[in-house]
Amino acid sequence: MSAAASHRSRAASSDARRPAANPWKVDLRELGRRPGSLHELQRSAPAPGDWRVELIGVPEGAEVELRLRLESVMEGVLVTGELEVPLTGSCARCLEPIEDALHLDVQELYAYPGSTTEATSEEDEVRRLEGDFLDLAPLVRDTVVLSLPLAPVCSEDCGGLCVDCGLRIDDLPADHTHEVVDARWAALAQKFGTEPSTSSPGTPGEIATPEEN
Ligand SMILES: [Zn+2]
Ligand SMILES: [Zn+2]
Repeated sequence: MSAAASHRSRAASSDARRPAANPWKVDLRELGRRPGSLHELQRSAPAPGDWRVELIGVPEGAEVELRLRLESVMEGVLVTGELEVPLTGSCARCLEPIEDALHLDVQELYAYPGSTTEATSEEDEVRRLEGDFLDLAPLVRDTVVLSLPLAPVCSEDCGGLCVDCGLRIDDLPADHTHEVVDARWAALAQKFGTEPSTSSPGTPGEIATPEEN
């Protein structure tokens, strides 16, 4: 039983040490620099903890699905494909937990060092390749975070919360209201509604009867 725990911690520490084991990094040596050369990539990678906005985000460690195509072009490597991103958060109207997923398309050019593109563009306009590895994490993070809704809702027609009692309107009956009840009827409602026989063993004659027509 303890063997499983030690195995897990060893795997975690070796992941952190070796960049080659980082699932967000792609080894470009497999792709080569010949224009037209293609590399299909299908894998999942765990999200770090900070891909979120105020009310919604990617849970830390959740698996992000990558279905990408890396293509060697004259100026660098063109990355195109799809992302499947799990989300958790809470509804901006009623605060209910939300579980959702984002499906996103990406297309991004990574410029080779020394390419015309690198020479004629700013670093914040076109991503750069450094060394033999392409780090997909910044691209995916930017794509995901820019797509996160600032006011996520549990459903498009979520009614939010009742301003008087704070309960979810969608969980309440359609005629839910907080009209001020006439004092005489309030006393009755309290007697019958919230106090069963245990608390008032008194005489039934004490119970007021409503006026009869
Ligand atoms: Zn809601
Ligand atoms: Zn209410």
